[in-house]
Amino acid sequence: MTHHVIIGGGPVATNAVETIRMLDGGASQITLISDEPAHSRMVLPYWLSREVPREHTYTADDAYFQELNVDAKIGVRAVRLDVTGKSVELSDGSSVSFDDLLLATGSSPISLDIPGADLPGVQPLWSLQHTDQLLKAAESNGRPHVLMIGAGFIGFTLLSAMHKRGWQLSVVERESHVLPRMLDEPAARLVEAWLRARGVQIQCGTEVREIVETSDGKKRVTLASGDAIEADVVVVAVGVAPNLELVQGTDIQVDHGILVNDRLQTNVPFIYAGGDVAQGPALYSDQPAVHAIHPTAVDHGRVAGANMAGQEVHYPGSLLMNILDCCGLQCASFGNWADPEAEAMVISNPGMSIYRKLLWTGDQITGAIFIGRANDMGMLTDVGMIKGILQTQTPLGEWKEFLRENPFDIRRPYVARKVAHKLAGATLLGRPALPRHFHFAGKQPTTTVGPAHSMLVQTKGE
Ligand SMILES: Cc1cc2nc3c(=O)[nH]c(=O)nc-3n(C[C@H](O)[C@H](O)[C@H](O)COP(=O)(O)OP(=O)(O)OC[C@H]3O[C@@H](n4cnc5c(N)ncnc54)[C@H](O)[C@@H]3O)c2cc1C
Repeated sequence: MTHHVIIGGGPVATNAVETIRMLDGGASQITLISDEPAHSRMVLPYWLSREVPREHTYTADDAYFQELNVDAKIGVRAVRLDVTGKSVELSDGSSVSFDDLLLATGSSPISLDIPGADLPGVQPLWSLQHTDQLLKAAESNGRPHVLMIGAGFIGFTLLSAMHKRGWQLSVVERESHVLPRMLDEPAARLVEAWLRARGVQIQCGTEVREIVETSDGKKRVTLASGDAIEADVVVVAVGVAPNLELVQGTDIQVDHGILVNDRLQTNVPFIYAGGDVAQGPALYSDQPAVHAIHPTAVDHGRVAGANMAGQEVHYPGSLLMNILDCCGLQCASFGNWADPEAEAMVISNPGMSIYRKLLWTGDQITGAIFIGRANDMGMLTDVGMIKGILQTQTPLGEWKEFLRENPFDIRRPYVARKVAHKLAGATLLGRPALPRHFHFAGKQPTTTVGPAHSMLVQTKGE
């Protein structure tokens, strides 16, 4: 019986397990090793904002793993990989041998190398434990002042959660504007104005020099600009780096992440990698990329799982996309949104917090940026349609000139070029995707569907 070993408990790992079981019906042995419970980091902001309890971040539990006949070693770390001996040594002293292995170890927050970075009350915000730590710190202080160092996409998902709690918020960003790896400057300025109008203090273009604790336990953060900010908690959100420790010293090839081919195999064919730790095929690029986002992790897990189960599945590549509700302002960017070679069509209305940029290579949209109010349904559907156009890599032909004249009418080219039809027919594994079976503690959702809602969620004929 083939023995598959998977290291990790995030979306790559759970999707790989489910795919293997969907394809082999239980005819293999699976061992999953994860130092954290299986969960989705993407849900952490909803726990932080108290919209869901901690348990709703979980994506699998013991009962679910038993149902899938998976030996889940939770709370254990893989500490050493022996590629030639095909085995992994674990933190509890045991070792597990494998026929094939999936490295789904994700990434970890980068720490700051400045005095005071290790003080209590200065923390990253990436894991269940970090979220717990921040919630505990907030318990004793009804409306804490949180200073976030770094203004990136993930930091801002958390900032929005803290804003919902009514906390006092400050942000310091080294680059000249917020969300520097997601938005261009004009778009970012709209976000800054939106946040300032909601009481968030923002300083860009300056670095943090040191953090000291004051006599009343606050953190005093000194900036290169000479300014100082006092806060109850400092959240360090200056980026993440792939967890590459296991492959260091092996022959597995690494660039920014573990290099994988379109079957998610490393240069050692029986070792696969996926998600934040992997550098793989990317749409609109001939270079492999690390796309440290949830949709890529899900795709990678499914494709790696299918190949481990003996299928031959090739991945077309991940689409870089960041979609963020920033305190009520919807921000999205896709593909090569910063391509200086592309032809740009821009509409901007700062007074209404509207910004749209389409980037063209020939008659194909190869990147896009959207800013608009989260209650603007037209903008939200347009974002979905642009995502579909990019995912299907559909050339728009004469509709390019139409969009130049009618930039808010994306629906017509979307329909005329049959993008929905292409999306409906596209499958990652050559078969329809199945819904996940996991529900926390076996509970089924109890939300009742109201009459207005039912026309959107019920299929025809029901
Ligand atoms: C707060 C937050 C919000 C986010 N929001 C979004 C969003 O809105 N949209 C989006 O697209 N993405 C979002 N992301 C990013 C997204 O969560 C990641 O891209 C995704 O989780 C990557 O999945 P993964 O399976 O590769 O790794 P992970 O989810 O990080 O899982 C890896 C797991 O492996 C474990 N592990 C690592 N090394 C070992 C080892 N040696 N032994 C045992 N276990 C190990 C880790 O502890 C971890 O549990 C967010 C991330 C965070 C933190």
